[in-house]
Amino acid sequence: MKYTLPELSYSFDALEPYIDAKTMEIHYSKHHQTYADKLNAVLEKYPDLAEKPLEDLLRGLDGLSIPDADKLALKNHGGGFLNHSLYWSVMGPEKEIDERLVNDIKDTFGSVDEFKKQFTDVAVKLFGSGWAWLARDENGKLHMHGLPNQDSPLLHGHVPIIGLDVWEHAYYLKYQNKRPEYIENWWKVLKLI
Ligand code: MN
Repeated sequence: MKYTLPELSYSFDALEPYIDAKTMEIHYSKHHQTYADKLNAVLEKYPDLAEKPLEDLLRGLDGLSIPDADKLALKNHGGGFLNHSLYWSVMGPEKEIDERLVNDIKDTFGSVDEFKKQFTDVAVKLFGSGWAWLARDENGKLHMHGLPNQDSPLLHGHVPIIGLDVWEHAYYLKYQNKRPEYIENWWKVLKLI
């Protein structure tokens, strides 16, 4: 199957003023599209793999019988494709609170504020390009990760729940080097909590 971008459920300017329309447009139409194109390019070589769920390919990446360069391409572009799809879907112009998630966050981190503090810390301190993640393990327990590049929590056997893109392309047009300011404002467009 060929991967195509998921439709956004809001317009490019819907997250203004926290995430500007130009950043949204370039991030979605250029960056995310490029991950999809390069993912499709590597899967073209492996029609059998292309039929499997992408999540399963990332979970079992080490065991795939393909050259290391193609594994890396799958990790980067498959990860990039899924990561951005999740990023768009957890944001929105209006809150759509996930009560189960909020309760699990309180159980795990003590309070939503404490979770936000710790998650912000992970995102601010992540060196270079990468993502801050909230993910569930096989027992449903929540974990926080800071992972480089487009590495998905799926590579570690966890299911991503919330992903915050801290690559400079996610914020540089509006925030330049002020990553903490982008993160502070991102909480306002994260719709789940
Ligand atoms: Mn990105």
